[in-house]
Amino acid sequence: DELVSQIAAGEVVERPASVVRELVDNALDAGATQVTVRLLAGGVRLISVEDDGVGIPHDELGVALKRHATSKIASLSDLESVGTMGFRGEALAAISSIAELNLLSRTAGQASAFMLDGRTGELRPAARATGTTVEVKELFFATPARRKFLKTDATELAHCIEAVRRHALARPDVGFAIWHEGKLVDQWRAATREQRLADVLGPEMVDESVAVDYHAGPIRVTGRAGIPDASRSRSDHQFSYVNGRYVRDKVLTHAARSAYEDVLHGNRQPVYALYVEIDPARVDVNVHPTKIEVRFRDSREVHQAVRHAVENALAAPRA
Ligand code: ADP
Ligand code: MG
Repeated sequence: DELVSQIAAGEVVERPASVVRELVDNALDAGATQVTVRLLAGGVRLISVEDDGVGIPHDELGVALKRHATSKIASLSDLESVGTMGFRGEALAAISSIAELNLLSRTAGQASAFMLDGRTGELRPAARATGTTVEVKELFFATPARRKFLKTDATELAHCIEAVRRHALARPDVGFAIWHEGKLVDQWRAATREQRLADVLGPEMVDESVAVDYHAGPIRVTGRAGIPDASRSRSDHQFSYVNGRYVRDKVLTHAARSAYEDVLHGNRQPVYALYVEIDPARVDVNVHPTKIEVRFRDSREVHQAVRHAVENALAAPRA
């Protein structure tokens, strides 16, 4: 019901960037090759995420807004091996309880697109190519107390951009664009991972870094480890991914930091993008509503793999 949805919304949606993250997750789950994010007022007035994915059949548009409506897992045991970004069926329901949400979508088989007005429930034919546009307007309009906690538009915009950057680093094969107030803020075309790292984080992220590529049992660690230059080193250039999902995790951060301390003996901020691939049965992604935290079944094994991966990369002779 409404109250439960609003409580869930509090856990999922903290600020506009949380909405951006959930909507881009959905676009990627739908197989999008191009994702366009449009924002007004740092996302508070409008967040629109447009994709060219498979779309939502018109008779399922209403269902997609219901709590625990997910097309992605059929049983509890599927949770063991979640391959998609979403799986809880919470995001759209939660967002639509705290904002005006409209869905515009077309599947390949449909003669036209359909638009669902989330407020009135009205469904009417509309125009667009195959794919989905989700529009979220006036975030927290019904909860002024929450809205009051938002920062300036510039700060909220920066968080939204960061959310898209995290996705962009995970999926170099997908093109991304971000617009704010009708102006193009950033645009990344589909590329190789190295090119995407350079496009998003700057050329030094590739020029002044070493490749990480390490395999141990059920774990593979790839990516780039930067050679920190005291003048350039930035803590916001630490990205870690587990099975394609951006995570903030103490085990990974600590492992990477230890490797930098061992090899470079400096105390400067390490700079890296690390991609951990692990048997999905060895990691639980269902520990936090925003899925930004994970729990490893054997965190020592992961710590060792990441530490060795980064140590080997940093210690290898460079050309
Ligand atoms: P979840 O992603 O956890 O399944 P959501 O609330 O985020 O839950 O989305 C609910 C459902 O709506 C999804 O399972 C999917 O079927 C559908 N959906 C949402 N966004 C899109 C999209 N951009 N393209 C296709 N289907 C979508
Ligand atoms: Mg989702």
